Amino acid sequence: MTPQAVLQRYFGYSQFRKGQAELINSILSGRDAVGIMPTGAGKSICYQVPALMLEGMTIVISPLISLMQDQVDALRMNGIPAAFLNSTLSAEAYRATLSQVFSGNVKILYAAPERLETESFLHIAQELPISMVTVDEAHCVSQWGQDFRPSYLKIADFLQMLPVRPRISAFTATATQEVCEDIVRLLGLHEPFRMTTGFDRENLYFGVQQPRDKFHALMQILHEHPNQSGIVYCLTRKLVEQVCDELCENGISATRYHAGLTDEERRANQEAFLYDRIAVMVATNAFGMGIDKSNVSFVIHYNMPKNLESYYQEAGRAGRDGSPADCILLYSGRDVRTNQFLIEHSSDNAELDEATRAQLRQRDAERLKQMTFYSTRQSCLRQFMLDYFGESAKPFCGNCSACRTNYEQRDMTIEAQKIVSCIYRLNQRSLQFGAAALTDILRGSKAQKYEKFRFADTLSTYGIMADVSEKLCRAMIQHLLAENWISQTGEFQVLTLNRNSARLLRERCAISLNVVKEAPPEEKKTRKQEVSENPELFAALKECRTKLAAKESVPAYIIFTDATLRDMCQKLPLHEMAFLSVAGVGQRKLEKYGEPFMDVIRSYLREHPAT
Ligand code: ADP
Ligand code: ZN
Repeated sequence: MTPQAVLQRYFGYSQFRKGQAELINSILSGRDAVGIMPTGAGKSICYQVPALMLEGMTIVISPLISLMQDQVDALRMNGIPAAFLNSTLSAEAYRATLSQVFSGNVKILYAAPERLETESFLHIAQELPISMVTVDEAHCVSQWGQDFRPSYLKIADFLQMLPVRPRISAFTATATQEVCEDIVRLLGLHEPFRMTTGFDRENLYFGVQQPRDKFHALMQILHEHPNQSGIVYCLTRKLVEQVCDELCENGISATRYHAGLTDEERRANQEAFLYDRIAVMVATNAFGMGIDKSNVSFVIHYNMPKNLESYYQEAGRAGRDGSPADCILLYSGRDVRTNQFLIEHSSDNAELDEATRAQLRQRDAERLKQMTFYSTRQSCLRQFMLDYFGESAKPFCGNCSACRTNYEQRDMTIEAQKIVSCIYRLNQRSLQFGAAALTDILRGSKAQKYEKFRFADTLSTYGIMADVSEKLCRAMIQHLLAENWISQTGEFQVLTLNRNSARLLRERCAISLNVVKEAPPEEKKTRKQEVSENPELFAALKECRTKLAAKESVPAYIIFTDATLRDMCQKLPLHEMAFLSVAGVGQRKLEKYGEPFMDVIRSYLREHPAT
């Protein structure tokens, strides 16, 4: 069978997505490989397809213990013999799995990194033919990543102990060069094939709001997503509890997740969310690495997270099946301070020496600054994000809050010169201020705290922007910072000039800012909900799926994703061949579920003969 035939037969997809075919072919040729692809891009297929085609068993190392069961269930649903070994198994189940593995009946074996050192596991790995070792979430090996796991450093030792070195493939959604180099080096990859696909996820809408009342804004968004599943991320445990309680009081079906809960509650809440018994999960960032629930329609950040890496990863949990989804950040200035506090008081990396820790703290502060730029930005959010991850992008995406709101370009060349001159004049007098104070000075504030400087008599730039609103003045300063015409330094984030500032004055560089048009029409803040073509049929198919899922005790999306149901609504298949052409229907699922779903479609068509 060709890779494409395997994709169709087992997974029900007719085409590879970007990067998948190249990675698979390279793995099949025997090379090591590194795949860097954003969440939801389809990394699993890249190792699962070759695993099925190669002689022997593939070991997949993953830190996501709580998800292994789901991953393995999903594979089995597709008729793929898979199993997992981790600490959640009872001694008996562990033994049973081991003997299953030894009988040669397992093609893909998931294991937690801690397992690698155990004797029974080494025994398997040394006795059985291993076609490939796949390292999932490979960035965990690097202390530069956001999820460093010391146990990942043991993987290289494990590989050394194998009688024959299998090919190795590593996957992550984290893109930075440092992390990528660490992955290659620390896992001991041999001249790996590298594939980095674009980071853009076109189906995601990105929005930032700066509401006076966050909870009110949250309720508003939830009302725009009735009967849909979503995640609300909060920065602290306390806030998780508060927001979750308030949502429940307001009649929203919500549950919570953070590291302070008992294992039992965490597991129960996660399951309620995965199985669609509860619509909204309120959580800290402890929830979710690798959550592959496919029908998450929105991810709302109640607070700004500490960096864009985390933000993109968390937001990326929306719309994994390719359906349109919303990622909305509720920003407030307080979030910046909370994050600063968390960075300064972080107990992470306690095992590192002080110099390295200081270096990491500084890096974190820089990342936080970029996150703040994103949150306060006036022009295309997607462009900023892609640019941050090292990709060039169009200046206008049309699917973010900045592009969606009616913006107009406003020339701010003169204002930019005023701002830069003001900083320059202040610096001449050895004075440095942050953005808020500079705004006051430019607008000629009479506040008492400035009296001692006697700006009115001595500073020519005092009050030269009195005609500009405070908000616009702040936006202009922020824009100059984001475009690196001026800098911000030190504990108090004071504004300073840099090499570009002089150029700005000397060359009279033209600078423009996207500003909101006068009185924009009242419009929805999020994208329009895409409704399936036949809402009624879609609902009936969902009901059928819910019943089957309950019968088999699996989450609904493991049977079919929303995207697959939507495709059924479009194709209206009535016989096997047609059903197989639906995206997400492979051979096994056709056999198992074809009839019940086609029955639903048949009876829908009987009632709606005109369709
Ligand atoms: P991630 O890169 O985050 O690990 P997954 O492997 O979980 O992503 O894939 C995300 C979703 O995309 C899954 O629902 C998967 O079935 C689907 N998918 C993967 N490859 C394809 C493809 N070639 N065609 C259609 N859907 C695909
Ligand atoms: Zn945009």
